[in-house]
Amino acid sequence: MSMSRLISVNSKRYFSKTSKLHDTHSCKLLIVGGGAGGCTVAAKLANNFKKHEIIVVEPAEYNYYQPLFTLIGGGTKTISDARKPMGQVLPKNVTWVQDAVREFSPKENCVSTGCGHTIKYDFMLIATGLQLNYDKIPGLLDALKQKDSGVCSNYSELYVEKTFESLKRFKKGNAIFTLPNTPLKCPGAPQKAAYIADAFFRKNNKRNNARVIYNTSLPVIFGVKKYADALWKVVEGRDIDVNLRTNLVSIEPGKNVATFENLEKPGETHAVNYEMLNVTPPMCTPNDLRKCRELVNDAGFVDVNKDTMQSTKFDNVFAIGDCASSPNSKTCAAVASQSTVIAANMTAVMSGNKPEAIYNGYASCPLVTGYDKCILAEFDYNLTPMETFPFNQARELRSMYIMKRDIMPTVYWLMLRGYWGGPATMRKFMRLGFA
Ligand SMILES: Cc1cc2nc3c(=O)[nH]c(=O)nc-3n(C[C@H](O)[C@H](O)[C@H](O)COP(=O)(O)OP(=O)(O)OC[C@H]3O[C@@H](n4cnc5c(N)ncnc54)[C@H](O)[C@@H]3O)c2cc1C
Repeated sequence: MSMSRLISVNSKRYFSKTSKLHDTHSCKLLIVGGGAGGCTVAAKLANNFKKHEIIVVEPAEYNYYQPLFTLIGGGTKTISDARKPMGQVLPKNVTWVQDAVREFSPKENCVSTGCGHTIKYDFMLIATGLQLNYDKIPGLLDALKQKDSGVCSNYSELYVEKTFESLKRFKKGNAIFTLPNTPLKCPGAPQKAAYIADAFFRKNNKRNNARVIYNTSLPVIFGVKKYADALWKVVEGRDIDVNLRTNLVSIEPGKNVATFENLEKPGETHAVNYEMLNVTPPMCTPNDLRKCRELVNDAGFVDVNKDTMQSTKFDNVFAIGDCASSPNSKTCAAVASQSTVIAANMTAVMSGNKPEAIYNGYASCPLVTGYDKCILAEFDYNLTPMETFPFNQARELRSMYIMKRDIMPTVYWLMLRGYWGGPATMRKFMRLGFA
């Protein structure tokens, strides 16, 4: 990368960023996406490479700690608490190309970017996360852009602050929270928003005027029975209406009407008035990735071996996080555990060995149930609980809330520097070495 230059990001850390791009570039390791997964693996592998042998292609200016969006929606944290400039979180010896990959050509070991440049690689890690499809619900984008519409969403940095604004403006009526009929990241997050709204209304003497409704496309409140049982008790105790298999299809912002379909009876819809509507949008993997049929499965996810996270078709390609086909719950917690496995397996493959490290599907979801309570769900591929602490985590605990609010953000930024690979060792220690 002859035209790279060093840019000072702050007084302590430096990164190199391509200032002018030639037509063709080469690298040993290409990482597509500098979010949770891309940054973490870059940090874990950076020391194995010389300067500029790793290229990270990432269009965004900031890396966001998205799990904090739930608390921003509740007014506990701000957007600036949840982000750091990309140049600060990438390792100093990688080259950051601030651009998006538009075409993947895995047979030729290269990609092309939005600016029309070609990047050749020996190995590639795909870490593009999920695309938010707000435009798939008629009326939604207009409603999100209108300041006082009461329509908000915790899933994007663009709209998350509107959630707290909508809670403050709320006077009387339905406060509806939705979960879409598509794969999604952090499937627990939509109902966390409902619990926080309930707590906010109680604290501000609005609860008697509010009907809190959680409409989910899923047939269950949560995938793991132990935590689902606990959550049904929470919704009953808080008087929150839960409608399963109920999917948002359109909004009429001028009239404050949302239309839902009954997924058990295709074609059957019903309209509901709202005072506040918190939408989790439909999602899919990014279009530019999905269109590379050689890399993805029928659902558009990078087809990987769920144990090793290696592509099923290309030995020099791995995927991490939300864009991978591994059937785990799509969370940062999963990314942490996957990063250790992927770093070991990519290192093995680069040295001509077999990938032998195995990911067990670990994911976790801190189910915030109010301003000082949290159920910390942890589980594996089989939806079997894998709790770190030696007590029953299906209870609403203040300690778990404090961990979510004050400790996990620090752990995330450490993870991006390669210092956190999930709680496996801690769990062993907490349980005195017993499984
Ligand atoms: C509201 C909310 C609450 C959540 N709560 C939790 C929680 O409590 N606990 C938890 O563990 N997880 C939670 N998550 C989920 C967690 O944030 C994601 O699972 C995690 O960020 C996935 O990491 P990733 O690297 O796969 O994707 P991301 O972190 O989303 O990063 C993907 C990156 O790829 C880039 N990209 C996309 N397309 C391209 C392209 N074509 N070329 C180059 N770059 C590209 C994007 O710009 C982005 O920076 C939550 C998420 C949200 C939105």
